[in-house]
Amino acid sequence: MLETVNGTGASRGGGRHAVVIGASLAGLLAAQVLAEHADRVTVVERDRLPEGPEPRGGVPQSRHTHVLIPGGQRAYDALLPGFTDELMAHGAPRVGAPSDLAQWQAGRWFRRTEETAFFICPTRPLLEWLVRRRVLANPRIELVQGTETVGLVGDASRVRGVLLRERGAAAVAVGREPQRLAADLVVDASGRSSKAADWLTAIGAEPAVEETLETGLAYATRVYRTGEDDEAEPHFIVPNPGQTHGAVVLPAEGDRWMVTLSGLRGNEPPLDDRGFTEFADRLPHPITRNWLDAAKADAPALAYRTTANIRRRYDRPGRRPAGFLATGDAQCVFNPIYGQGMTVAAMSALALRDALADTRRTPTTRRVQKAMFAASRQAWDISAGSDKNMPTATGVAARSTPADRVSGWYLARVEARAPGDPAVGRVFRDVLYLTAPVTALFAPRIAKAVLFGPVRPSPQEPPTRREGI
Ligand SMILES: Cc1cc2nc3c(=O)[nH]c(=O)nc-3n(C[C@H](O)[C@H](O)[C@H](O)COP(=O)(O)OP(=O)(O)OC[C@H]3O[C@@H](n4cnc5c(N)ncnc54)[C@H](O)[C@@H]3O)c2cc1C
Repeated sequence: MLETVNGTGASRGGGRHAVVIGASLAGLLAAQVLAEHADRVTVVERDRLPEGPEPRGGVPQSRHTHVLIPGGQRAYDALLPGFTDELMAHGAPRVGAPSDLAQWQAGRWFRRTEETAFFICPTRPLLEWLVRRRVLANPRIELVQGTETVGLVGDASRVRGVLLRERGAAAVAVGREPQRLAADLVVDASGRSSKAADWLTAIGAEPAVEETLETGLAYATRVYRTGEDDEAEPHFIVPNPGQTHGAVVLPAEGDRWMVTLSGLRGNEPPLDDRGFTEFADRLPHPITRNWLDAAKADAPALAYRTTANIRRRYDRPGRRPAGFLATGDAQCVFNPIYGQGMTVAAMSALALRDALADTRRTPTTRRVQKAMFAASRQAWDISAGSDKNMPTATGVAARSTPADRVSGWYLARVEARAPGDPAVGRVFRDVLYLTAPVTALFAPRIAKAVLFGPVRPSPQEPPTRREGI
């Protein structure tokens, strides 16, 4: 447990107490880890949580396509043993890469060679519900729902709890003061729109410096059903600086298909039936338009437009209090196209677990926060590194450095070879899927292919079946 200060009042309920703000993925997974160190963990959630796997207001992205990439599969299984099997047992489809889908990236179609990795494609509510069920079964973890955190208790040297207000009309009755909940440790897992900067300022501490990179990426997602005999195929079209439209067509549990179309600022996908379908004509291949024409929409399209990459630099020195950590999207949030956020939430919880279990070092707030920050670094480099090159990129993190130009040159060569060369493709995927470090791209065999090898032929048209079948 972080430096516990006696006499904070936190012990009144018995022993060391941690409070987690937000009962979504990052909050629940952090609570699961903290329950191994604290006597009690209270998870405070603004929403009233549904009984089952249903979308909810506090997680507006929950109706959009979500994939669990291999790095996330490992991390969820390490925190909640058997989790990915449970997810698939609840119907979440498994899609092998590059074998089971047509993928257009960096201007080329990938060969559908043997599977080297797979995604799991649950709906976001199913994944969150399964995590919630497992975590809240822990008797040390208590959920306080329908309750908003509105501030911190403490000062610039130490956070000693949170200020809470019940949500809803009755709670805003004139004169109703926020309630104090004392804690030895407070973890902010309140997501992209975290108000921690205001809360820290209010107790005399410094908020974290924010790095932002915004392209105006806009998502529109629609659920489809296909006929029993239709052979619907998943596919991806990944945008790049020269072709900024994207498409993701993936199955989900319950015989659904999730279709997400994307465009950048000034080129947002429309939500009306015709506009949504016709937007697919802007993609570099008619595969998506043909897919949409053959399928049946099950619900209207929904938009999501708050997609900036934002990294809050809590790892850097500053007048910040002990006993306060940030995790998940509240610490670092990405352009969703690379499907990393749920994975980084779990990797950050694993970093928290490792930092707290490290008997060689005192787990100071700063040390633990740095470890959690490190867990998000590769995902940030991938997401912000790609977005920097987009024509609409703005924000402090959009500036390119000389080092970016060198790595950009190498990565462009990797991307050119990955679609046609299965060995390069494998490592490229492992890095993107957060199961291998970026340095894997520089291993001698890969570097040789990247620096001296030819660009091998890749399909001219989206491959419709796995090679060798
Ligand atoms: C369109 C879209 C598509 C995405 N696709 C993928 C994908 O394919 N794969 C992937 O891995 N990731 C994806 N992501 C990212 C993923 O959704 C997030 O990274 C993940 O949900 C982060 O979890 P979190 O717990 O940090 O935050 P959130 O899920 O945003 O949850 C924050 C929680 O805090 C609560 N809260 C907020 N303020 C307060 C407060 N003051 N007091 C109490 N409670 C509060 C909210 O109600 C909510 O429950 C996508 C994101 C978007 C936007």
